[in-house]
Amino acid sequence: MGAFYCAICRQTSFSGKAHIFGKSHQSKLKVVLVKFLEKVKEARRTIKTPQVEKYDCTQHQRRFWCYCCGVEVERDVTDGNLTVLFGGLLEHMATPEHRKGTHAFWWENKADPKLKGKFIVTEEESERFKTEVAKALESFEEKEDELIKQQATLIRAREQHRQEVLQSLTEVFLTSQELSSGNNGGQQKDNNGCPQLIIEKGRQSVVPA
Ligand SMILES: [Zn+2]
Ligand SMILES: [Zn+2]
Repeated sequence: MGAFYCAICRQTSFSGKAHIFGKSHQSKLKVVLVKFLEKVKEARRTIKTPQVEKYDCTQHQRRFWCYCCGVEVERDVTDGNLTVLFGGLLEHMATPEHRKGTHAFWWENKADPKLKGKFIVTEEESERFKTEVAKALESFEEKEDELIKQQATLIRAREQHRQEVLQSLTEVFLTSQELSSGNNGGQQKDNNGCPQLIIEKGRQSVVPA
């Protein structure tokens, strides 16, 4: 029995097979698989209803460690614009490499054979996921287009309102200007030819030069 590094227990063992069958290794293996299975179940739930979100660089760089293959894999799939949650995990679990890795992992660790199938995504599931993702992306884009249209309508309405307010303010200004120039017999300038400040009945206005 040679020495080997056990990735589940994160330690070097000198007892070979005896370590794998041992209580300590088997209980750690159970904990690892339960946690891993939680993530896998969460991902599997999205096969029929994929979750599409706008890409957010702070949100979508989650990775997961695949114990079966001993590699780190991106959890989501993104094109830099939209993100399909769990797309990376499901894609990975459908690869032949992962299938091989899972068989080897189960054999090497003497894991519960009943659980093995839960960690492999079948070709059928993978095809279903791809079809549903295409639909989900389409409906996400439709919703987004609709939102953009609504925002454009809102912006136009605000702009129109702003124009109307500006128009009525201009009218008020022009009317008051006409009134003040009418009351004072046209333009008035001081000795330097500068416009005079006229104060009458508590109202201030500058007569234009
Ligand atoms: Zn171990
Ligand atoms: Zn894997």
